[in-house]
Amino acid sequence: MKLQGKVAVVTGSARGIGCAIAEAMAREGALVVITDRDIDEANRTAARIGTSAIAIGADVSKPEEIEALFEQTTSRLGKVDILVNNAGIGVARLVVDIALDEWERIIRINLTGAFLCSQQAARRMIAQGHGGKIINIVSLSGQKGGVGRSAYGASKAGLEVLNKIMAVEFADSGITVNAIAPGPIMTETGKAMHTQETVDAYHRLIPQRRYGEPAEIASAAVFLASDDASYITGHTLNVDGGFLAAGLMFP
Ligand code: NAD
Repeated sequence: MKLQGKVAVVTGSARGIGCAIAEAMAREGALVVITDRDIDEANRTAARIGTSAIAIGADVSKPEEIEALFEQTTSRLGKVDILVNNAGIGVARLVVDIALDEWERIIRINLTGAFLCSQQAARRMIAQGHGGKIINIVSLSGQKGGVGRSAYGASKAGLEVLNKIMAVEFADSGITVNAIAPGPIMTETGKAMHTQETVDAYHRLIPQRRYGEPAEIASAAVFLASDDASYITGHTLNVDGGFLAAGLMFP
């Protein structure tokens, strides 16, 4: 029970990686806020987890909904100890093709949404006076050049730098800020961004020769949210089967 008594807000946790993170944190004793723009799915996920989860609808591209999310969290559960900025969207679009409104929508959700949630959470953690944990879900697409990653890669690279900036700014308040960069995972977003060609390529290029599972990201998030990671801040943990480490791969 590494997170006993902690209150964790996990954005975009109705399904996919966020759902796995919320389930794992609840198993470790946290009270979890399942928050998502899809409130019906969020309600179903919270009901499945049981008494250690509540659902609150919020679209992270809307500042007023984010503020209401944190107000409701503190009024219903008393505090916020952990924030996981997981909500994100992605499309594969070339720089020469992507439309401005699509670019702005991706940046707005993946980068500005994480900034606004972190701002709301950090203000409360600072006022509470007993520290906190912020975890940002970034991507290998923000670390390496990749065809069609345009706005998605730029949004995740921006979030990874914000991760470091927040780690430094919040250190005096006992708040740690870390990122997780997952390798490819076959969630809804994963399916939208992967063709059979990319699936075949990843199987050749990932040293462990497979896609990751949401639960493998969740265990990294539990670690970073726990006291086991008390002296880690400003770090990005790559959970990618060795993909980033790999150079030339022989068949
Ligand atoms: P997913 O599509 O399965 O789940 C994303 C969830 O976020 C959904 O429940 C969706 O409703 C919610 N969401 C989307 N926009 C939202 C908004 N504006 N406000 C609130 N909720 C919103 O995707 P996933 O693969 O589980 O992705 C989770 C995170 O992991 C994303 O940030 C994604 O960029 C990142 N990631 C995924 C992969 C991968 O291969 N799947 C790899 C690296 C990083």
